[in-house]
Amino acid sequence: MSIILGLFTLLLSIAIPLALLLTTNFQVIHFALFFIIPVGAIFTGYLCGYGYFKGLVLSNRKITGGHYFVGLIMAIVCLVSVLYGTYYLSCFNEEEQKIEYSLEGNHVSDYEVNGYGEMTFPKYTRYMIENTPVSFSIRSTNITEVSNPIFGWIVTIIDYLGLLAGCLACGSSIYDKYEYCDNCKKYKKKKKIFDIPKPNGKGFFDELETLVNNLNMSIFLEEIIDKYKNDRLKTGEYYECYLIYCESCRSASFKFKLYEKNKKGKVVENDDFKYTIDVNYDFVRNYIKKDAA
Ligand SMILES: [Zn+2]
Repeated sequence: MSIILGLFTLLLSIAIPLALLLTTNFQVIHFALFFIIPVGAIFTGYLCGYGYFKGLVLSNRKITGGHYFVGLIMAIVCLVSVLYGTYYLSCFNEEEQKIEYSLEGNHVSDYEVNGYGEMTFPKYTRYMIENTPVSFSIRSTNITEVSNPIFGWIVTIIDYLGLLAGCLACGSSIYDKYEYCDNCKKYKKKKKIFDIPKPNGKGFFDELETLVNNLNMSIFLEEIIDKYKNDRLKTGEYYECYLIYCESCRSASFKFKLYEKNKKGKVVENDDFKYTIDVNYDFVRNYIKKDAA
C-alpha cells in the first residue's frame, strides 16, 4: 500500500511542477513568500511524501527513522526529476533571445555559453542558478532584481532544502496524527467525543482522575461529562476530548486539546497543552458502540 501510494504521489509531485512550467512558465519549486520562505518547494516535498507516509498508516506499519530516510531519498528523486524535466523542456528562442519552456523548439543543449560550455544538464542547471535574476516584489510591484551567482546559490539551496524539509514534515505530521498500538501492531482508532468549557476544566479533570484511579466508584463517566459539559457556559474557550482506543487489546485513553483565545481574540489550539489519561475500556464502551451503530 505504501509503495503504490508513495509512487503515485511521488509522480504527482514531479508532474505538477513540470505541467505548470510548460503551461504557465511558473516554477513551483522556486516560488517563495516574503522573499525567502520556499512555500512552493515545501508544498512539493509534502506532496511527494504524502502517499508513502499515509500508506504506512493504512497498512498499519509504525513510522520509524528508516521510513524518514526513504522519504528523504524520495524527495531527492523528486527534486532531481523536476530539475531534469525543467532542463528537458528548456528551449532557446533565437528571435526573442530568451529561454522558454516547450516540447518543441531548439533545445538548449544545442548551444554553448561562454564560461560554461555546452549546455548539458549539470551545466545548464548551474548556469540558471547563477544567472537568473531573483526579483523582489511587494503586491506585484517590482522593487528590485538581484542577479548575483552567490545570491542565486543561496536562494536555490533554500528552495532545495525546503523540498526535503516538506517531505519530512509530511511524515512527522502524519506520525503525530495517528497513535500506534505496540501490542497489536496496528493503529488505534480516534474519535472526538465531547467538549468541556475551559472554566470547568479543573473540576472535570479532578473527577475524571478520581474515577480512573478508583474502579469501585458508583458514578458513571457519562454523569461526570454531563455535569461539566454545560453548554450554556460557552466562553469560546474549551477542552476538546478525543477517545483513542484499540479494539484488539481493549485499551483506551482520552486525549485533550485546549482551545484558547489568542491576543487577537481568535480561538486557536494551545500547542503547549497536552493531557492524556488512560481509561478503562469498559468505561468508554458506550462511546465506541455508538460508533458501530
Ligand atoms: Zn492494541
